[in-house]
Amino acid sequence: MSGNIERKPWEAFRDSGLLWWVNRSLHLFGMCIVLEEEEDGTVTDAYPARTSWRGFSGPDEADGFLKVTGYLAQAGGVLLGEVSSPLGLADALDGIPMRVECIECGTMVDPPEDDSDPICSECQEESDAEEK
Ligand SMILES: [Zn+2]
Repeated sequence: MSGNIERKPWEAFRDSGLLWWVNRSLHLFGMCIVLEEEEDGTVTDAYPARTSWRGFSGPDEADGFLKVTGYLAQAGGVLLGEVSSPLGLADALDGIPMRVECIECGTMVDPPEDDSDPICSECQEESDAEEK
């Protein structure tokens, strides 16, 4: 597995509420992910399955939102860091540099290697011409 993927146990995925969240979405397509568990909650098997269920009951919805909101509260700082750091995002894209907007026209350009503002070649030429 690459450095950008960290395997997690099904139990943690279930307990975070993310299994409920994913299944909530999959129900639209008549699908779900099923976990087979021991009495103590240990997961022994997991598989995609066809289902006729659509959505969850009120108590399950309340429990799911509580768990996922708790997960976000706990993991939010890390998640925000991963998406807001250009270096982190570049790492996530396996070395592909993030494109940024030209400060003059908004065209997407490669980020400058120094601390200068990003600017496209056309706007740079106009700026150079004005300085002369
Ligand atoms: Zn430009």
